[in-house]
Amino acid sequence: QMVALYNGMGGGAAAAIAAMELFSTRATGIPALSITLLGALIGSVSLSGSLVAWAKLEGVIKQPLRFRGQQILNGTAMLAAIILGGFIVYLTQVVIGTPQPAPLLVCLFFAFALVFGVLMTLPIGGADMPVVISIYNALTGLAVALEGLVLQNPALMIAGMVVGAAGLSLTQLMAKAMNRSIGNVVFTNFGAVAKTRPGAIKGELKPVDAGDAGIFMRYAGSVIIVPGYGLAVAHGQQKLYEFVKLLQVAGVTVKFAVHPVAGRMPGQMDVLLAEASVPYDMIYQLEDINEEFSHTDAVMVIGANDVVNPAARNDKLSPIFGMPILNADQAKKIYIVKRGEGRGYAGIENPLFYGDNCQMVYGDAQTVLVKMIEAIRGLASTA
Ligand code: NDP
Repeated sequence: QMVALYNGMGGGAAAAIAAMELFSTRATGIPALSITLLGALIGSVSLSGSLVAWAKLEGVIKQPLRFRGQQILNGTAMLAAIILGGFIVYLTQVVIGTPQPAPLLVCLFFAFALVFGVLMTLPIGGADMPVVISIYNALTGLAVALEGLVLQNPALMIAGMVVGAAGLSLTQLMAKAMNRSIGNVVFTNFGAVAKTRPGAIKGELKPVDAGDAGIFMRYAGSVIIVPGYGLAVAHGQQKLYEFVKLLQVAGVTVKFAVHPVAGRMPGQMDVLLAEASVPYDMIYQLEDINEEFSHTDAVMVIGANDVVNPAARNDKLSPIFGMPILNADQAKKIYIVKRGEGRGYAGIENPLFYGDNCQMVYGDAQTVLVKMIEAIRGLASTA
């Protein structure tokens, strides 16, 4: 949420600089006026789009808003802003020859750009937000760089280009992680939410006591931990590492499997684990560990959901279909730590939880970990 807000502030700042230029007589000449307008457009889209992204992540907007003809409306809003921008340049510089564009047209231009940012982000749901957030990151950088160019301010140009380039690489990495091309993300109705088909999920949820699950892992040969958003919510990272160290003392091989879009921010899980001083050589990225799940004794999925949802592999109607997932379902035993039957960010059911090899450890992640630690310590004291 904070990243989305900061992103929006950056875009808003670039748009404000552009507004100052447009309402003064400084952006004169076709190139300067065009660049200012382009920066204004990109900055405004980034501002309103990031605010909608914030509202979605905060839960203020709960459902993606979709309606028939939405893509046509979005395309029209974008075209309207671009055509109006072109018209402002033509009218000001070619027809009238004044140094200052008509304020009413400039206001209308900003209105179209802001509305386009809102319209573009409203339909996004499913699990596509990481890509969107990094796109806005790149756009904010680009808008700042463009305004730096108009103002001939090297600091703004350099800072904007660095943020823009970093945002663009992040966008590429996120799109790759979600198995989508950037074009597909920008131009299709991405994130469309399909309802879980009735009868698509078979089996039942099987609860287990936290202490029992902890003791099972204590006697396993190998354990993989899959952290997710709920671990961050519960601030459970320190307790998680304390639990892992107890397993290691007992001779268990423990690895952490990190999905690139786990959590609500790119790289959030790496930061979370680093905060708890988990050594880097215990942390494995998806492509480096996915083969290992099938010959691992136990997996503990803690506060994660979408990133281990096999629907991404098997269900063509799923909004996350095609997204690479961690192969937790292939382990011999799976424990899912979560508070109840809440869904993940994509808002869909997870068939993994109903599998024969899967058990649910209900509770807040940190509370569950405390119980697991107590159970293992209890074993040592009775011995
Ligand atoms: P999910 O959002 O899929 O699932 C989180 C799970 O954690 C929920 O099912 C919830 O279940 C559980 N949970 C919440 N609070 C707690 C708690 N205190 N203790 C224990 N469990 C808790 O998380 P993932 O990390 O698996 O996936 C990330 C999702 O977010 C993906 O869909 C991704 O696309 C999206 N996203 C990622 C971004 C990024 O850049 N990384 C940005 C924006 C979105 P329950 O309520 O039952 O406890």
